[in-house]
Amino acid sequence: MMKRVFAANWKMNHGPAEAAEFVRHFVAGFAPASDRTVILFPSALALAVAREGLRARPEIKVGVQNIHWEDRGAFTGETSAPIARAAGADYVLVGHSERRHVFGETDEEAGKKVAAGIRAGLTPVLCVGETAGERERGETAAVVLRQLRSGLAQSGRTGVAACLVAYEPVWAIGTGKTATPRDAAEVHVAIRAELRALGGDGAVNVPILYGGSVNQENAATLLAADEVGGLLVGGASLDAGRWCAIART
Ligand code: PEP
Repeated sequence: MMKRVFAANWKMNHGPAEAAEFVRHFVAGFAPASDRTVILFPSALALAVAREGLRARPEIKVGVQNIHWEDRGAFTGETSAPIARAAGADYVLVGHSERRHVFGETDEEAGKKVAAGIRAGLTPVLCVGETAGERERGETAAVVLRQLRSGLAQSGRTGVAACLVAYEPVWAIGTGKTATPRDAAEVHVAIRAELRALGGDGAVNVPILYGGSVNQENAATLLAADEVGGLLVGGASLDAGRWCAIART
């Protein structure tokens, strides 16, 4: 059985003090469970505090929300994969819809970030998803598979097995709308087939997460859908109690 993955994307919320408080509450309410992987993605400046608060619970992982593709250099304001790793990150989100649509990140840049993350020993969570317009035009599969191929293009066959994928329809992020389990399953099955084509047998166990307005009410139904191996949660992960309920699903 593949472990379910529960990933919390705090976006630009929770500074160090709030992160410490969250982690205190979360570890008190969430018993160790060997059948699931839990990952917190705090702001980069709250990562060390979160990591420290999880010292007694090393099975709960932390990650950064973005990296630059270069390892070092004159890139003011950026964080490299080796620096994130040295600061305690295990995972990195790559190609989140806000990176793509607010900051103009391209498919090719996402591919360079995935490769940089793997090189530094981080596990990338490659996010893919179509906009409302693309969905209405019937382009969902084409967009998602293009983003997937580009995101993995610079990592080779073995790199495919070193990643997680998150399907997050852009129209579902932070909107209160979710894909139906049937729609999510259709895309997840297509992602799995493409992963196998790109990575062979190594891709069979790559977890494919669903994200987009997940909460404790809809988590179980979405997790029951074909090929949904976990959840990437934004808004509903900001409260330790709500996040505890979701991570126990
Ligand atoms: C996200 O930011 O990845 C996300 C899925 O957000 P929300 O759960 O708030 O829709």
